Amino acid sequence: MRIAVIGAGIIGITTAYELAVDGHEVTVFERRGAAAEETSFANAGVVAPGSVTPWAAPGMPGKVLGNLLSRHAAIKLSLPLSGNDLAWMWKWWRACKLETYLANRARLQRLAFYSQSRLHQLTADLQLDYDRAEGYTVLLRSEKDSRLVQPGLQILRDAGVAFSEINAEGVRKIEPAINPDTEFLGGIHMPNDEVANCRQFALLLKDKARDLGVKFEFNTTVDQLNTAQAASVLIPGENTPRQFDRMVMCAGLASAALLKPLGLKIPMAAVYGYSISAPIREALNAPRSALMDERYKVAISRLGNRVRVAGSAEIGGSLAKHRASSIQTLYKVLHDWFPGAAQNANTGSSVQVWKGARPMLPDAPPIIGDSGIPGLWLNLGHGSSGWALSCGSARALADLMAGKAAEVNMEGLSVARLN
Ligand SMILES: Cc1cc2nc3c(=O)[nH]c(=O)nc-3n(C[C@H](O)[C@H](O)[C@H](O)COP(=O)(O)OP(=O)(O)OC[C@H]3O[C@@H](n4cnc5c(N)ncnc54)[C@H](O)[C@@H]3O)c2cc1C
Repeated sequence: MRIAVIGAGIIGITTAYELAVDGHEVTVFERRGAAAEETSFANAGVVAPGSVTPWAAPGMPGKVLGNLLSRHAAIKLSLPLSGNDLAWMWKWWRACKLETYLANRARLQRLAFYSQSRLHQLTADLQLDYDRAEGYTVLLRSEKDSRLVQPGLQILRDAGVAFSEINAEGVRKIEPAINPDTEFLGGIHMPNDEVANCRQFALLLKDKARDLGVKFEFNTTVDQLNTAQAASVLIPGENTPRQFDRMVMCAGLASAALLKPLGLKIPMAAVYGYSISAPIREALNAPRSALMDERYKVAISRLGNRVRVAGSAEIGGSLAKHRASSIQTLYKVLHDWFPGAAQNANTGSSVQVWKGARPMLPDAPPIIGDSGIPGLWLNLGHGSSGWALSCGSARALADLMAGKAAEVNMEGLSVARLN
C-alpha cells in the first residue's frame, strides 16, 4: 500500500520503519527540517517498563494541589489555564479512580515491556550504535521518600521486574560519583532498565527506513486532511491533495488539531517539561547510567559524553516561555548528586536548555490503530513515555494494518477507549 505518515518524531520514524519492513511504500511528511526536532529532541531517555505508569493515579489530585506553591514542585500550573486544559484536567481527575488507574497501568506496562524487546531487537539486527547505558536507580533522600515508593515496588513485583532495595552505600557502589557529602537513605536499583538517546536512535532508524525506500519530505507541513477522503494530504502551495491508501497520524501534540475537522476529538494537552544537557567535565564525577530523584521527580541521565537532567510537569503556558524556577530545580538536583559532573555555562561551554511538550492523554495510554474513518490510522498520545513505548507501538500498528493480531495485548489502546 501507499502510506503517508504525518510527523517524524520517534513515533513517526518507528512507524515508517515498521511499515516499510512490511513492504509498504511510505512517505513521511515533517514540518521541521529534520527528524526528532520537537518532543523527541531532548527527553530524559529513560526506558524503564516497570516504572511506566499513568499520572492519573489515586491521590495525585491532592499531591498536585499540595505542591502548587512549592518552589521545586514537580507539577506546576501556569495560569490562566485554557478551556482545553481545564477540560483535560477534569478527564484526568476522573481517570484517577483506582480501577481506571489499574487498567491503564496494565495497558501501559504491557506495551512498554513489548516495546523494550522490540527496541533491543532492532538495535541488534540493524547494529545501531547510539548512546545508551544499562541500569536505572531511584534515589531516596529520606524515609518519607521510601514510604512513598512502596506501592510502586509492589507494581514492580507484580510485573516481575528485577530490582533491589539498597542503602546509600549500595547506591554509591553502583554510582561511585555521587557527591560524598550528600546524605541520603538509599535507592531502588533496576538492572534491566536502561537509558538511551531517543533523538540519536530516531536519526539512525530514519536512515535505515530510507534504505528500505521510505521517502522523507522535510520542511513540509500538512495543512489539513481531506474530510471526504482522510488518506489524502493537502500541502500548502499545492493545488491538489496527495492521495494515499492509508495515512497514519503521528504528529504528537499537533495531532488533535489536525483530526478535529474530521470529527475526531482527541483529549490531548501539552504537559511541558525541561531538560538541560551539558558536556561532562570529568568522567570520574559523572553518573554511569540513569537515576531518578524521587523527591523532585527529576531524572539524571548519562548519554555518552554528556549528562542530561530532565523533569517538571507544567500544565498551561507555552513552549516559548521558560519558567526559571523549573530550570533552577534541574541544576539543584544535579548539583546535589553530581556537583562536578558537568561543564556549566559560566565556563563558556554549551549547555543546551530545552523545553518540550508531552502529548498527553488524560488517562495516559496512547491510541494505536484504525481511527474508524476510512484510510486514517492513529499512533499518538504517548505522553511522558513515548520513547519507551515507541518501538512496540509502531510494530503493533504495522501488524494491525496487515490484518494480523499484534504480539502484545492491545486491549484499551484503540480509539474506542475515548467513547
Ligand atoms: C522533559 C521530558 C522528559 C521526557 N522523558 C522521557 C523519558 O525518559 N522516557 C520516555 O519514554 N519518554 C520521555 N518523554 C516523552 C517523550 O519525549 C514523548 O512521549 C515523545 O517524544 C513523543 O513523540 P512523538 O513522535 O509523538 O512526538 P514529537 O516528537 O513531537 O513528533 C511529532 C512530529 O510531528 C511533526 N508535526 C506536527 N504537526 C505536523 C504537520 N501538520 N505536518 C507535518 N509534521 C507535523 C512535528 O514537527 C514533530 O516532529 C519526555 C518528555 C519530556 C518533555
